[in-house]
Amino acid sequence: MELKVVKFGGSSLADANQFKKVRDIIFADKSRQFVVPSAPGKRFSADTKVTDMLYQCYDLASKGENFDVLFDQIKERYNTIISDLGVDLSLEEDFNAIKIAFSHKAGRDYAASRGEFLNGKILAKYIGYDFIDAANVIYFKYDGSFDAELTNEILATVLKSHTHAVIPGFYGSMPNDTIKTFSRGGSDITGSIVARAAGATLYENWTDVSGFLMADPRIIKAPKTIEYITYRELRELSYMGATVLHEDAVFPVRIMGIPINIKNTNAPEDKGTMIVSEAPADATPTRITGIAGKKNFSVVRIEKDMMNQELGFGRRVLEAFEKNGISFEHLPSGIDTMSVVVAESALTDKRDHLISEITKSVEPDHITIEDGYALIAVVGRGMIRSKGTASRIFSALYKSGINVRMIDQGSSEINIIIGVDNEAFEDAMNAIYNAFLD
Ligand code: ASP
Repeated sequence: MELKVVKFGGSSLADANQFKKVRDIIFADKSRQFVVPSAPGKRFSADTKVTDMLYQCYDLASKGENFDVLFDQIKERYNTIISDLGVDLSLEEDFNAIKIAFSHKAGRDYAASRGEFLNGKILAKYIGYDFIDAANVIYFKYDGSFDAELTNEILATVLKSHTHAVIPGFYGSMPNDTIKTFSRGGSDITGSIVARAAGATLYENWTDVSGFLMADPRIIKAPKTIEYITYRELRELSYMGATVLHEDAVFPVRIMGIPINIKNTNAPEDKGTMIVSEAPADATPTRITGIAGKKNFSVVRIEKDMMNQELGFGRRVLEAFEKNGISFEHLPSGIDTMSVVVAESALTDKRDHLISEITKSVEPDHITIEDGYALIAVVGRGMIRSKGTASRIFSALYKSGINVRMIDQGSSEINIIIGVDNEAFEDAMNAIYNAFLD
């Protein structure tokens, strides 16, 4: 039997009009039984998310300053939604309790979590679903990490006694009963956790775009939407900067093989993007799934004759990075050269120290650091099957007069990483995207 967990992001619940769309979506499909809301987001681009208002308000409270004005604005956001929807609900008691807790410095996480808590109460009342406080079903460990097993056990049991419920996103509780939140955008994670515990057949993540785009629309004009993307491809693309879904939201559903469908609250008929373990056989075959990239990387190049025969060479080089607290991104290597690609920001004032350390431990013939690299990841499960992917990429770059400064193909064969000059980044992205339009 179908059972869907549906998560709605902040822009989907920013005002009464958006709440109405959400209700229509939920009521359009009986299997949408468990709902995870975010706090009200922006109603227009210059607007402030309630979560940010709560942080600001709490910062004033924790400094002992007067926070009445900001607190009243937050109350106003909720009260307007309640009155515009015409629901019979008063949050006055909650507002009073929250205000007292702010004065007693209940913590920034507690403050931020009230955004989802209050929105969840309104939504539950509006659609007639039960309200389950996430503090009673989502748990963190003493060290602050998420307690997946305890949560799953308790949440699964609690969900069994509800057929329809709203569980606010973003927070849970610590062993000492204080409130803790996930990192920003964390309602995506709650949705995934609820989907796992409920044994859902699908996790629908409703937002304000119709799925993942093949590339960043700020760089590529009107990129196509991705129909199916595997968890692994998604990981590669998010790592290179593509964002729609919180990175940690994949893990809970991935263990259970529950697909995630990214959907648009403002265009519910659009199919959106399906995130799956494996694309179904009838999915339109694609050569590449998406491209993503970032600027400002540095390449530390170490050269030494006969390096390939020197046992422990790579380990000693990487040890120097580790000692300096620098994590590396890629390791494209030749027979007598080893290149370590790092984010420029990770090197800062550590350059001289790093070079002298590497020099001491492996005595290279040459060592240089080159800045100003942009990296582009071309990702696609279809690459393994289709010939000529690399040649398409490189001839497109050649035709656009772009110099390729580095190439790295992961052994998984689902990505090719290309390094170009920072200045050529946008042109390179366009050239590569256009090469795969057919
Ligand atoms: N409201 C929180 C935030 O703005 C969590 C979320 O929306 O997922 O980050």
